[in-house]
Amino acid sequence: MLSAKSFAPGRVELLGNHTDYNGGVVLSAATHLGISADGKTRDDGKVVLTSDGIEGVSCADLASLKPADSWSDYPLGVTKVLKDAGYPIQGYEADFSSTLPLGAGLSSSAALEVCTALLLSRLFKFEVDALPLAKLARKAENEFVGVSCGLLDQVSSVFGKKEHAIFLDCRAESVETIPFPHGVGLIIINSGVKHALTGGEYNERRDQCFEAARIMGVPALRDVTSEQLEAAKMPDIVKRRARHIVGENERVFAALEFLRAGDATGFGKLMSASHQSSIENFENSTPELDAIVSIAKAQKGIYGARLTGGGFGGAVVALADNDVYDTVAPIIAEEYKKATGHTAATYRCEIGDGAILHI
Ligand code: ADP
Ligand code: MG
Repeated sequence: MLSAKSFAPGRVELLGNHTDYNGGVVLSAATHLGISADGKTRDDGKVVLTSDGIEGVSCADLASLKPADSWSDYPLGVTKVLKDAGYPIQGYEADFSSTLPLGAGLSSSAALEVCTALLLSRLFKFEVDALPLAKLARKAENEFVGVSCGLLDQVSSVFGKKEHAIFLDCRAESVETIPFPHGVGLIIINSGVKHALTGGEYNERRDQCFEAARIMGVPALRDVTSEQLEAAKMPDIVKRRARHIVGENERVFAALEFLRAGDATGFGKLMSASHQSSIENFENSTPELDAIVSIAKAQKGIYGARLTGGGFGGAVVALADNDVYDTVAPIIAEEYKKATGHTAATYRCEIGDGAILHI
């Protein structure tokens, strides 16, 4: 019997909302929060999974892995994808423990997938390069779990770097890390209202984006500028969805320049503009997220705020001076409670290393 451990972080999307499956660009960062796994091999051909956040044990036969509409679909999907790709997977058991909130837009699902993939590579002693690892994890979520996510979440969890933003070009499949402005960090405010990306909204938005690209006669919305989009004829709702994507790509390129210049003010304004576009164009915000963004933006030391991740609930990310967290977090939580009746959880988010740097 062999044993091994692994860790994979969650990620926070900083700019470039829903651009990944449109061949676009994204800025993200890995969080210091993540999922750890403790595993050992078994010789009975079974996959036995437990998680500290969830009751019960998942037990499956390696020879016949099928989705069961359960949390264990994420690790089982990764197991099957790696096995089908020819990696020497055998029976094993794993116990997961997490510091990431579930379904908050911080991609606990990708952390769970990447953590599983790394655990298996260590238990069964095989190597997978970083990008193929991220792609296999995504394949598991797409094909086994049935969520049509892009590559952002898995890339961020794999490639993150302490105090760096990650720039992902989804078309070129290239990854770059850029230092964060000095003294500036992130605050995450979870609205406490959960989203369900496996619901229809995510796939509906995706279809609308593809429809806009089809009308424009291009392979993906990455190939469209704002001017071209505004000049084109298409149903208003499709145009608004596309406007969000095209605008996000433009904001990511602008933000890259601000990052390189160490300009948190410019970066923060783009984050707030991104949220406004979510409200007006993509309609993937909620009254709770909007309340958090407007409260956060009004605080001294906060440069900008926006929803992060798929939307439809989940969390807000704010760009803030590192030393304001203790002052602003309780104010945001209190004003949010007054405005909506919901309880927010706030996190000082350290930008952490990705899974490959956590050996
Ligand atoms: P997000 O990735 O934004 O956190 P998702 O809906 O994509 O939200 O993924 C959340 C799902 O991932 C949970 O509903 C659960 O099935 C699974 N999951 C995440 N973290 C854990 C964990 N620690 N233990 C078990 N399942 C988990
Ligand atoms: Mg997810």
